[in-house]
Amino acid sequence: MDGNYIIGEDKQFIAGTYSRFPVVFKEGRGCRLYDYEGKEYLDCGSGIAVDIFGVNDEEWKAAVIGQLEKVQHTSNLYYTEPQARLAKLLCEKTGAKKVFFGNSGAEANECAIKAARKYGEINYGKNRKEIITLKDSFHGRTLATLAATGQDEFHKYYDPFPAGFVYAEANIGSVNDCVNENTCAIMIECIQGESGVNPLDVAFVKHVEKLCRERDILFICDEVQTGNGRTGYLYAYQAYGVQPDIVTTAKGLGGGLPIGACMLFDKCRDIFTYGDHGSTFGGNPVVCAGAYSILSRIDEKLLEKVKSNGAYFAEELKKISGVEQVTGMGLMIGIKTKKTAAEIAKQCIEKGLLVLTAHSKVRLLPPLTISKEEIDFALKILNEVISG
Ligand SMILES: *Cc1c(COP(=O)(O)O)cnc(C)c1O
Repeated sequence: MDGNYIIGEDKQFIAGTYSRFPVVFKEGRGCRLYDYEGKEYLDCGSGIAVDIFGVNDEEWKAAVIGQLEKVQHTSNLYYTEPQARLAKLLCEKTGAKKVFFGNSGAEANECAIKAARKYGEINYGKNRKEIITLKDSFHGRTLATLAATGQDEFHKYYDPFPAGFVYAEANIGSVNDCVNENTCAIMIECIQGESGVNPLDVAFVKHVEKLCRERDILFICDEVQTGNGRTGYLYAYQAYGVQPDIVTTAKGLGGGLPIGACMLFDKCRDIFTYGDHGSTFGGNPVVCAGAYSILSRIDEKLLEKVKSNGAYFAEELKKISGVEQVTGMGLMIGIKTKKTAAEIAKQCIEKGLLVLTAHSKVRLLPPLTISKEEIDFALKILNEVISG
């Protein structure tokens, strides 16, 4: 089997929603991946912030295989040990009171939207259903989360969308203008990932929190991309010194298997009752056993390493000629360059480095375990490509 054969089959049989790079990965270890021709690549994308301990991680594999050898699925009609254990660990680490598990970031956000609307209705009546999100946000690909996404290009073809989303600019005046008696929640990403790794202002995020407290509006942080150690904090809201009422996460939590979590804090801890929401696969025991292995290893030592390696990576990037701006936090890095991001990503891959793009920027989301030597290797290639 060679790579080109697989690419041909894929093009013939897979729905054409993805513009893929012409590479087929066969295997890997840590931050290194190998294609069918045996070419080595350094991974600075982690499968979009997913493989936070790299690929082929022994501890995660042992947890997953251990559970696979017991039972792979039971449905949510019954209790399972891995699901309860993972929910307890998430609550212990964050102060959340209850967790709902789905299978993706979009599903975690759907759950948050449902929780906010139920909270609005039971406390303030039928009309309190509006959710404020931000321009340039990204919250997922289901119809409701596309509606929540504040970018026009995501709103073609698929209308009518669920109503009730209002888009504010990421500034105090704009969000104040959007709030009214029908607002049930404000949902933000502390660092907007998909639209270019743009961190929100601390003062703005603190204002959103205050506004929510004053008016009993639920404050939702979408930590699908920023969560699980990516920024050098377990969740990015912790860097902002705020306390959300709902936190959603996914991507890195599963270590490569699909999971989404909606964490409910004090105010809405008991918002859901039997029959309010559900999922066949959500909280699957194999996935939860793997996620427990991931979450339990995101400790202070790893977070400190993410902070220092991220700072080093960003500082060195700023020295490259052709780099106009470096944004982000920890190992979530956006690079504004003179050349187009697409061109840089293509040239990097030819030289054996995997990077992502985010609108007009190059986006780096390497495994959290990336070493200093690996960062230096990435910098060398980025330097050649960006300044060349
Ligand atoms: C990726 C992402 C999502 C969607 O997650 P899926 O698992 O693809 O559904 C939602 N919000 C943010 C901030 C994301 O980065």
